[in-house]
Amino acid sequence: MTVPISPKGPNLNAAAVVPAAGRGERLGPGAPKALRELGGVPILVHAVRVLARSRAVETVVVVAPKDGVAEVRALLADAIGERESAALVVVPGGDTRQESVRAGLAVLPADVDVVLVHDAARPLVPVDVVDSVARAVADGAEAVVPAVPLADTVKQVTPAAAAGLPEPVVATPDRATLRAVQTPQGFRRDVLDRVHAKALEEGVDATDDAGLVERFGGRVVVVPGHEEAFKVTRPLDLVLAEAVLARRRSRDEF
Ligand code: C5P
Repeated sequence: MTVPISPKGPNLNAAAVVPAAGRGERLGPGAPKALRELGGVPILVHAVRVLARSRAVETVVVVAPKDGVAEVRALLADAIGERESAALVVVPGGDTRQESVRAGLAVLPADVDVVLVHDAARPLVPVDVVDSVARAVADGAEAVVPAVPLADTVKQVTPAAAAGLPEPVVATPDRATLRAVQTPQGFRRDVLDRVHAKALEEGVDATDDAGLVERFGGRVVVVPGHEEAFKVTRPLDLVLAEAVLARRRSRDEF
């Protein structure tokens, strides 16, 4: 099977940081989530291949579990090899996602202007989404998030003290104004460095990087994401991911 590589675009020196240091406990017992297999290939390898194939991305920094750096390095060297055309760096992660992203940012080459932060847990994101996020940053946005409309109506509740108890509904936000966000999230490098430094200084922890930009007064825009860029979190997500992969293979979309 050959892997098509899109030509690297001119004037766009983007790097990707891939936090992959989580345990993935919601997926059940076993290896760290990024190392679980999908179609016989670790989830992380799928994610890194897509990034390396993007015409924007020159460098991919993978943030591995602290005790798994050598294993991840060996895995990626074997699986990525010469076929893709981005440089690959592996560094140890931290105790939170935010710390892991910060560890990745710390080793980016000096000439990188655009940073894409992509969860290893989103292995099936189409390369077009990666390219369009990078392009939106290159075209002037300081922070860009791919997202999709919601299928479900969402209720805001007062969380119950214990799981399973009824929870009072507080509000029903207008679904037309809501988006479910995905990754890669794209940033001007100076903006992302600044908000991570500020978050560290002020002890702020956020579940996504765009959230930090919002918190510190920056402007975040949404671009179209893709239904196949879902996050593998629970066992059922693995079933869906296997089905997506099988459909791609039957259509010869690798
Ligand atoms: O836990 P969650 O699914 O939100 O994690 C999102 C991503 O952040 C995953 O790819 C996970 O491996 C990564 N992560 C990390 N370091 C941590 C926790 C999570 O790199 N300490």
